[in-house]
Amino acid sequence: MYWYQQFFSFLIGISIALTPGFLFWITTQAHFNFQGETIQAAFVSNDLPAAPLNFSLAEKTLLIGEEKPDVLREYAAMEACQGINKRDTQEKVVALTFDDGPNGIYTSEILDILQKEQVRATFFVVGNEIAPTEERLIGRMTQDGHIVGVHSFSHRDLRTLSKLEREEEMEKTAGLIKRITEERPLLMRPPYGACNKETTKNIEDFGFTIITWSAMTNDYEDLKVTPQWITQDILARVHPGAIIDLHDGGDNRLPTVQALPQIIHELKNQGYTFLTIPELLQVEAYANR
Ligand SMILES: [Zn+2]
Repeated sequence: MYWYQQFFSFLIGISIALTPGFLFWITTQAHFNFQGETIQAAFVSNDLPAAPLNFSLAEKTLLIGEEKPDVLREYAAMEACQGINKRDTQEKVVALTFDDGPNGIYTSEILDILQKEQVRATFFVVGNEIAPTEERLIGRMTQDGHIVGVHSFSHRDLRTLSKLEREEEMEKTAGLIKRITEERPLLMRPPYGACNKETTKNIEDFGFTIITWSAMTNDYEDLKVTPQWITQDILARVHPGAIIDLHDGGDNRLPTVQALPQIIHELKNQGYTFLTIPELLQVEAYANR
């Protein structure tokens, strides 16, 4: 073989060896860019905030974590519910709300903290989490002065269900709450904060007031967040009249439990008073018996 034949063989060999790596690099770049764009439009979460939020690159990285692009696309497609998400006020008042419970461990701990801090909150509960053993937690919520609202029965996206299925989701959960507390709930937070016109009308025709939020963090991503992050992020988002959304169920909520006292202390130091949703928004929590 002549020297130039050897040289060309060498060039071809090196191209073949490098191609997979180059393709991989291109793919990861595209993947990253896609995530970067999507995150502008939608918060990566189980629940969407009422309005798009902007994040720094560091925050984006934390939020994106291992999420897959198709999941991101789905979140981006979610429309924010036309619910009440805050009170327009300069007064230093906020409402603490909790979703996805009751949970035998974390809801109990949260109720203990709220009792100790003399703070009342609003719980949006998932019907099929109210196993017989957790009924006592619903009872304790009302005994302690908290408000109980509906967060569906199975935590499915209500937009994907038929009208009949949606009404079943609401009725089964409201019925369970009424059986335990003797009060029929009127407040509803749709799973993922996801509605379209049809589901919004359906929920309102059913007699519920839709409550969303104005201050939420990714406390539902239990493996990615620390109590310090939850506290810091919530405090950065809080404003007079805010509805704060945290999660007491669905998975490991230890970081939320650990963050809660810090959040309460800091907001108290800033002069905030904690109200329930009916107190904050002047809406009825329960139907007249
Ligand atoms: Zn939820």
